[in-house]
Amino acid sequence: MGERTEVRVVIVGTGFSGLGMAIGLKKAGIDDFVVLEKANDVGGTWRDNSYPGCACDIQSHMYSFSFDQNPNWTRSFPTQPEIWDYLRRVSARHDLGRHIRFGVELTGARWESDEQRWHVQTRSGAEFVAQFVVSGVGALHIPNVPTLPGIESFAGETFHSASWNHDYDLRGKRVAVVGTGASAIQFVPRIAGQVRQLHLYQRTAPWIMPKPDHPMPGWVRTLFTLFPPAQRTYRNLIYWLLEARALGFNGHPRLLQAAELLAKRMAAKQIDDPQLRRKVTPDYRMGCKRVLVSNDYYPALNRDNVEVITEGVREIREHSVIAADGSEREVDAIIFGTGFHVTDAFDHLDLIGRDGRNLAKEWATEGMRTHYGITVAGFPNLFFLLGPNTGLGHNSVIFMIESQIRYVVDAIRLVDASRAKALEVRADVQERFNTDIQRQLVRGVWTQGGCRSWYLDAKGVNRTIWPGFTWRYWLDTRKVRPADFELTVRNDRTGADGADSRVSA
Ligand SMILES: Cc1cc2nc3c(=O)[nH]c(=O)nc-3n(C[C@H](O)[C@H](O)[C@H](O)COP(=O)(O)OP(=O)(O)OC[C@H]3O[C@@H](n4cnc5c(N)ncnc54)[C@H](O)[C@@H]3O)c2cc1C
Repeated sequence: MGERTEVRVVIVGTGFSGLGMAIGLKKAGIDDFVVLEKANDVGGTWRDNSYPGCACDIQSHMYSFSFDQNPNWTRSFPTQPEIWDYLRRVSARHDLGRHIRFGVELTGARWESDEQRWHVQTRSGAEFVAQFVVSGVGALHIPNVPTLPGIESFAGETFHSASWNHDYDLRGKRVAVVGTGASAIQFVPRIAGQVRQLHLYQRTAPWIMPKPDHPMPGWVRTLFTLFPPAQRTYRNLIYWLLEARALGFNGHPRLLQAAELLAKRMAAKQIDDPQLRRKVTPDYRMGCKRVLVSNDYYPALNRDNVEVITEGVREIREHSVIAADGSEREVDAIIFGTGFHVTDAFDHLDLIGRDGRNLAKEWATEGMRTHYGITVAGFPNLFFLLGPNTGLGHNSVIFMIESQIRYVVDAIRLVDASRAKALEVRADVQERFNTDIQRQLVRGVWTQGGCRSWYLDAKGVNRTIWPGFTWRYWLDTRKVRPADFELTVRNDRTGADGADSRVSA
């Protein structure tokens, strides 16, 4: 039996979600919490993904906390080292270190109804007993490595972009890259000039737009430092420009057609060979899969040592990759740019709610269903940050995370103000929310656009994206609506003894 710690709140993860939540609790005067982090540093996505060229496709001044703005971003779009550095400084500035338990991995949690507490289990055996649990485990965190036939016989080097092997010298090597998603289009241009030969296996061509990236001029950084309202105005401008993109994704395909023309024009300018251009031109509507931005991906494909293969990978042999058409290419290394487990990301967590309900099993059979991506019926006092249907294709998810943090704090306040022990979203409210959101998603480009993306679960249902405007989400989650919840109160309030009872809030 490991060590046992009692706390008010357990937060899991130290990416934007976990760190932001910790700051939110402190601001609300709640100091009795721990943050569990399985790695040995803060940063989440921006700690793990250190592949060459890793950067964000949302502008720096928007991809950061509204309450902790950085006037000194060096570029309009931040690179991975700079975001990681930002998160470490945020953690230090808010003195979060004393709350964080590094090297502690959550494996599961069980709601004990008689105690009205979560018993949180970790890989090391240490147990945390808490009234509230907040998950910030990340939506794109568990690398998805395809099980290719014969991969175990491969004698060379293999790794996924999220766990880049910096000790492996790519210079002069023959390399296969599998996947052409957001990560691959960033690292391919960086390694194309180093390797002897790069074979790029593409299943679906992504839509790629120009990236309006530039260094932030010194005078702008000085202005933002001396006069913070100027930075806030700049941020607001970016917010509304990005927000306008939601129109295209939600039933206004003409806007997407205009953007497609822009993307095609860039491809025409940057790719010399018409056959290659055809190969990398998508055959579905822009926005159906995540729209990518890059100025150097197409020029990298132009290189003599780079080849795009559109037949899928059939098999791996000791020294080679065999494509679906039977063609064989000898390689020294295989790099997977194959993304992450998304709609099945919670399968490995053993979360047991009220009456023994198993979250992974429920979500596997019924799909990931929540209320605003934050609370789940049957799982009292459990909150998700960046949970199902709160991801975005058009704006900064940090905005969503901040809305969720405020909502969680409000929910805890409601429990306290009602002198209750627990709060649980009503099943009918959750059902209504999901029906409504799926009705909107069906009209959107993710369903109508003619592609199959990682936004969809195994049954083809979109459990990832928030359809519509983020200001709408902000407005809807500004305050917890007590009528949406049932509270568990102590019976001694009513003079009775024995079990607690669930009442409408
Ligand atoms: C390569 C890459 C590029 C991206 N680019 C963009 C972009 O351009 N724009 C954009 O909006 N979004 C982008 N994203 C999405 C990005 O993940 C989010 O924007 C944001 O960083 C999510 O923050 P988070 O804190 O919710 O999750 P994460 O940053 O994933 O943090 C989760 C944390 O939880 C920890 N953790 C997980 N499971 C456990 C456990 N069981 N026990 C203990 N600790 C655990 C992890 O170690 C990690 O530190 C990108 C993601 C990736 C992977």
